[in-house]
Amino acid sequence: MLNSQSFVHFLKEEEMAVTVLIVEDEEKIGRFLELELLHEGYEVMKAVNGRDGLEKAQSGKADLVVLDVMLPELNGFEVLRRLRKNSDIPVIMLTARDEVMDKVAGLDGGADDYMTKPFAIEELLARIRLVLKKRGGAVNADKNQLGIGKLCMDVQRYEVLYDGKQVELTHREFELLRVLLENKNIVVSRDTLLEKVCGYDYMGETNIIDVYVRYLRSKIDDVYQVKIIQTVRGVGYCIKEE
Ligand code: CA
Repeated sequence: MLNSQSFVHFLKEEEMAVTVLIVEDEEKIGRFLELELLHEGYEVMKAVNGRDGLEKAQSGKADLVVLDVMLPELNGFEVLRRLRKNSDIPVIMLTARDEVMDKVAGLDGGADDYMTKPFAIEELLARIRLVLKKRGGAVNADKNQLGIGKLCMDVQRYEVLYDGKQVELTHREFELLRVLLENKNIVVSRDTLLEKVCGYDYMGETNIIDVYVRYLRSKIDDVYQVKIIQTVRGVGYCIKEE
């Protein structure tokens, strides 16, 4: 049973998670996208036809839509056209190869970006991050600017800079760094980090936080020859200036 204070906190944390709606009738592609997005720490909603996709996109529960063009009931362009009447949710269209006109139509119709099938999943993930960054994502915290020393995080813009240079992070790396920066100079336990980064219901490997810390160090500490993420043995991690 959660007390009211932690429940409020829980709701706030929930708001921070980015939910991606996948509208795709091809089951294999839909499932693949779902697994990859979950792995990156996104929440996922799915729809397998245009009508259901439009409804879910308008529900306010998703933060970004990955929208296939060829769909039963309503095609992707029609979904986008109707969606844009009352929503500016970010949309990335998936089009088949050679449908160059489709791409143009998609962007004219208010899509934020498009991908041509078949595509590399890493590219789609990068474009999702970029679109969220451009749009400020769904993140709406009061404390949008976090940082320590030369490290700056803009939560609203979903951006991390070190000495003015962009640091590319995955969603979970970003979340881990955010929690550490919100608690700078304070040791945060592995359990707290796990809960905040992976969620209360996370059932996977318990050393996942150590793995993400390693990734963060390889992208920040190692690159800039600093040591800002400290290990506190037996307890957890702490971010502080050298
Ligand atoms: Ca399709």
